[in-house]
Amino acid sequence: MNNPIVVITHHTGGTDAYPLADSSNATVLDVDKWHRARWPTFRSALGYFVGYHYVIEKDGKVTQTRREDEEGAHVIGMNNKSIGVCFAGNFDLTLPTEAQMQAWYKLYADIQKRYPNIPTYPHRKYASKTCHGKLLKDDHFAVQYQIFSLEQKIAQLKAQLTNLVTNRRFK
Ligand SMILES: [Zn+2]
Repeated sequence: MNNPIVVITHHTGGTDAYPLADSSNATVLDVDKWHRARWPTFRSALGYFVGYHYVIEKDGKVTQTRREDEEGAHVIGMNNKSIGVCFAGNFDLTLPTEAQMQAWYKLYADIQKRYPNIPTYPHRKYASKTCHGKLLKDDHFAVQYQIFSLEQKIAQLKAQLTNLVTNRRFK
């Protein structure tokens, strides 16, 4: 069982588990292979061995690898109270792609429908690792999401205002 109170973000590259793996361009099947080798009996109801709940590849493709109510295998001590999201890439060296950020906005908004206002923190908040990457601040995905949401809201308000003004003009 899993009762998520936080969304925990990861990157594939440069983790302690796979220090030599060239995982900057990893696919969900790569992650599945690594985790299957590590936890051969921890198969999810969705058929994956991936310890995270979602994987976001460089091109923005999102794969759900574990049901949200299933325990994960991504942060010691938090696996039954968090949703794990892993981005392909080594964010010690590179940044998430625009496609990954767009996918993240959609995914995080979707998760919040089920878990309203659930916060998001990097793996390193709970372990002495660099994960989700040295180049990203702790609140990177939270702040970027807030900016995106604000931009959406402003666009909505602009459209409403334009409608108001236009309607007034032609009355
Ligand atoms: Zn991690």
